[in-house]
Amino acid sequence: MISCRDFMEEIGDYLDDDVAGEVRRRLEEHLAHCKTCTVVCDSARKTIRVVTESDSFDLDEGEFLPLADKIMERIRQTRD
Ligand SMILES: [Zn+2]
Repeated sequence: MISCRDFMEEIGDYLDDDVAGEVRRRLEEHLAHCKTCTVVCDSARKTIRVVTESDSFDLDEGEFLPLADKIMERIRQTRD
């Protein structure tokens, strides 16, 4: 079983549909058991949809990375 940290390291590729079959299987197995990562995954998907569907909305790294940090912080708190 992979950890939430492992999941977060792969989530970008997973959402880009850019992971090998075996990795995808393990990520989906983790999602099936982990509410935190399911929520993170859903939010990330929605965020990506908003960003890609709107021409006028630019989300640059400066805005996204603090959000990712917040999510990771929440996960660390949940795990302890
Ligand atoms: Zn998780």
